[in-house]
Amino acid sequence: MAKGSVYLKSREEIEVIRANGEILGKAHAEVAKALEEGVKTSRLDQIAEEYIRDNQAVPSFKGYGGFPSSLCISVNEVVVHGFPSNRVLKNGDIISIDCGVYKDGFHADSAYTYAIGEITDDVKSLLKATKESLYQGIEKVRPGNRIGDLSHAVQSYNEERGYGIVRELVGHGVGKALHEAPEVPNFGRRGNGPRMKAGMVIAIEPMVTLGKRFVLQEQDGWTIRTEDKSYAAHYEHTVVVTSSGYDILTTFEYLEKVLDDKKMFYV
Ligand code: MG
Ligand code: MG
Repeated sequence: MAKGSVYLKSREEIEVIRANGEILGKAHAEVAKALEEGVKTSRLDQIAEEYIRDNQAVPSFKGYGGFPSSLCISVNEVVVHGFPSNRVLKNGDIISIDCGVYKDGFHADSAYTYAIGEITDDVKSLLKATKESLYQGIEKVRPGNRIGDLSHAVQSYNEERGYGIVRELVGHGVGKALHEAPEVPNFGRRGNGPRMKAGMVIAIEPMVTLGKRFVLQEQDGWTIRTEDKSYAAHYEHTVVVTSSGYDILTTFEYLEKVLDDKKMFYV
């Protein structure tokens, strides 16, 4: 978990993270190309790892605390930290894909939730709120604001719509370590928490449930799912605090281009 003091990144270091965010954004796009009914989630993991290594980078998650794969793949009621497996995607599934790229001494981290085939209107609304709340949080990023300002924005956006905000897992600083200080919760109070400073790089990652907010960990020691088995969504960007606001260092542009080309639904 995020520990220690906040390390502010130099201009050069921020550019390294942005370059890694590009590789990461394209790795997500390669995975998006393969998303369809009938595909095994382990195949998606192979695609991501191959793309990342072909770009002289390392998948941040593989081996992290013993995590076995390059992607966290979390389907339906799984919120985060699911393993790629022999599970086959089917119509109506939602799949959250979380990935990290490490190169030249720094990490980038981002996640996106996809719909496979036809999903219900309730689930569409969940995806829309979760993604929108990520940007509501990002809008609060500027020097002098507190992490709690961002946390509160994410929480209130989702709770006003009746969704659950997962509290057991949080966003985090990103840099030389995948998880650095500060913690970036998706719930909190305005005016609380660490003050944002230019050069602070954070991963903002709302994890939102269609039912109650409570989660449990499966016997495998990793997989986090909703207690009530309601569906959950997860979107994440790595963002830097600039002198006047924020800059998003990861990108959904490439993967959304793929979704457009494939005429797949997204929010
Ligand atoms: Mg992530
Ligand atoms: Mg993260």
